[in-house]
Amino acid sequence: MKSDDQWFTRQIVERFIKYVKIDTTSDRHKQEIPSTPCQWDLLHLLDRELEEIGIQNRNLDEHGYLIARLESNIDEVTQPPVVGFMAHVDTSEDVSGKNVCPIVHEHYDGAAIELKDGVTLKTAENPLLSKYAGKTIITSDGTTLLGADDKAGIAEILTAAAWMQEHPEVKHGAVELIFTPDEETGKGLNLFPLKKLDSICCYTMDGDEEGTFEDECFHGHTAEITFNGIVIHPGDARGRLMNAVTMAGELLSMLPRNESPEATDGRFGYYCPLDVRGNIEQSVIEIIIRDFDLEQIKRRSETLRRIGKTIESTYPGSKVHVEIRKQYSNMRLYLDKDTRVIRFLEKAIEMEGLTPKKKYIRGGTDGARLSEMGIPTPNVFTGGANFHSKKEWIVLPVMINAVRTIINLIRLWYAER
Ligand SMILES: [Zn+2]
Repeated sequence: MKSDDQWFTRQIVERFIKYVKIDTTSDRHKQEIPSTPCQWDLLHLLDRELEEIGIQNRNLDEHGYLIARLESNIDEVTQPPVVGFMAHVDTSEDVSGKNVCPIVHEHYDGAAIELKDGVTLKTAENPLLSKYAGKTIITSDGTTLLGADDKAGIAEILTAAAWMQEHPEVKHGAVELIFTPDEETGKGLNLFPLKKLDSICCYTMDGDEEGTFEDECFHGHTAEITFNGIVIHPGDARGRLMNAVTMAGELLSMLPRNESPEATDGRFGYYCPLDVRGNIEQSVIEIIIRDFDLEQIKRRSETLRRIGKTIESTYPGSKVHVEIRKQYSNMRLYLDKDTRVIRFLEKAIEMEGLTPKKKYIRGGTDGARLSEMGIPTPNVFTGGANFHSKKEWIVLPVMINAVRTIINLIRLWYAER
């Protein structure tokens, strides 16, 4: 056991449990940010907790972006670069995040974990789990998600900040702590107050397995396909009705099954139909397109347009409109800008006796958006697993290592002055 472990344990468990109990489910169908008012509950709590640990410089704007600044504690003309740590307050709407009842499994016995409603964390499905036998694992009770994505990241950042405040002998430059709404909706950084940020780079605390980090993610695009049919009473419809529901179904059946999320892994991208709504007159399908390679995104976009045209021509008088929008880019494009960002991260992980492991995200993060805005932002492990599911779990000692990694990063950047 390292020194301070007890302090870290108390701090992080208390904070994490408190945060996951607050429902912060976001809603991708809403345009406003934050998409759900419940996210304010956690944002206001964080603002208060930052004040409690003595951070005066805080700004919570009208869209729910909270930026706090741990001031530099050195009195020198040449200050170290300002760096930031970021986490998101919302949880995915895929699984309920209401009334989360976290269960702390102390001295985990290494066997399957039985939760409510027959939800079981089997070791065969979670090979990493048995590695943590004897440690403390936290899960939900099986009826909701846990919300470690990304409340683990929030708890880790707050704990690191509280530790820095209690250790003024550890010299550091200014550090920005950034909490954002609506990451899960993909719109989270749309109104981000970039001008208020001084950081030359940031680290998103939103990853999973111990020692890992991500410097690459998908290119994310979204296609909204609108089918406008021609409505006639079904009794008189022969040869005249152009049914928008049927048209939408036809498009879905034409998507290549071998390019679906369920058929791909590694570096292969996909189409994923996310939403279908509508009626006989008009229906709308939302499809997300993902790939590490932009050329593949372009190919899939063209395919959707072509399928749209084909359907339009087989339903005379109908209209099919395909609109494709970019959501985010592969952050790799921007991370090469300053090689220190990854070099220090690897070093900070090594300082905890871990072997840094580079991964890529089969998805996106706000870090990708921020990287695109000019602030390189890789994604760092938090210790969680099975995000967006009732089987989400997290390991306490890994959370502590994530906190220590944050502190190491602050020290490494301090040495850059
Ligand atoms: Zn997340």
